Amino acid sequence: MKTILVKVTPSYHIYLKENLALSSFLESYKNQKLFIITDDNVLKEYDAYLKKQFKEYKYHIISIKPGETSKNIQTYNDVTTNLLKLGMGKKDILIAFGGGVVGDLTGFIAGTIFRGVKFVQIPTSLLAMVDSSIGGKTGIDTPQGKNLIGVFKNPEMVLIDPMFLKTLPEIEYRNGFAEVIKSALIGDLPLFNDLDKLDIQEIIYRTILVKKNIVEQDPFESSLRMYLNFGHTFGHAIEHESGYLVKHGFAVMMGMEISLSLGVKLGITNPSILPKFETLLKQGKYNQAPKDLRVFIDQIKYDKKRDKEMVSFVFLKDIGEPIIKEIALEDLYEYTCQ
Ligand code: ADP
Ligand code: ZN
Repeated sequence: MKTILVKVTPSYHIYLKENLALSSFLESYKNQKLFIITDDNVLKEYDAYLKKQFKEYKYHIISIKPGETSKNIQTYNDVTTNLLKLGMGKKDILIAFGGGVVGDLTGFIAGTIFRGVKFVQIPTSLLAMVDSSIGGKTGIDTPQGKNLIGVFKNPEMVLIDPMFLKTLPEIEYRNGFAEVIKSALIGDLPLFNDLDKLDIQEIIYRTILVKKNIVEQDPFESSLRMYLNFGHTFGHAIEHESGYLVKHGFAVMMGMEISLSLGVKLGITNPSILPKFETLLKQGKYNQAPKDLRVFIDQIKYDKKRDKEMVSFVFLKDIGEPIIKEIALEDLYEYTCQ
């Protein structure tokens, strides 16, 4: 099969193909050193693969502990110290080889070390392939919340090989698939209708196109990009309240269910979407949203995005037709608590 190319204006390309020959895309970096950042799980699966792909390159591998808890200032400090000790120079290249945690951290390092170096995204989780590797947002978490420190930094390119999904744990696959469902709901009705028919490469491609179209129109999240937050207002609150035991995608599925039900109640959302969504929820063995939302609304009040007593909430008028409405937080209690 041919390599699929997606151009993200203004600056980089996404290449997508099963069994992509990674090293052939990096030819122009033969004279630089490559610093590959990954995590211990991914390295265990792909150590031999990396050695083979990069045998003609000068490279170092730095591996971090897997999981969201590594996306912090301590790991940032450890990795940058390591890079400097290994003699990294301003012209050398960082490569993020892993899931969203590795991608976000590596992007943040690439945006800040020597005031910015080139970096390449090679996402290995479904969530990173369809979502976090695209759009230029990078960052780390603090005890106050997720992604509170970061920069916008685009990669030189994104190289996506669905072959990596063969080793991805099923729960991580479902976690990423929630973002696929979200993108289909906000921007691609035919994709939504065919989710169980299309192969994963086509699904990844179409999901990326939804995000690319939105990000290109609003790179710094001043307006349209908020559509990508569909399901995320309650999703983030649910994730946070669970102490991050509920994974991002699973929490976003609940958040989308809440937004759809609320939208139907308020006469914004076409009621026929809800049963279709419930079917996907069951098929993917996702949990339904809790019935009492009080504690999550309290959490939303403390969220960094709160704007006085109002919250910008993404609803769907219909599939492919998102709309943002300002909702008074106090009204949320009334509409959503039984
Ligand atoms: P996400 O990609 O969901 O944002 P992570 O970067 O933490 O979050 O990745 C999720 C988990 O999946 C981590 O434990 C990571 O080590 C693991 N992982 C990522 N890609 C692969 C892969 N291709 N094979 C096996 N495990 C993987
Ligand atoms: Zn998300």
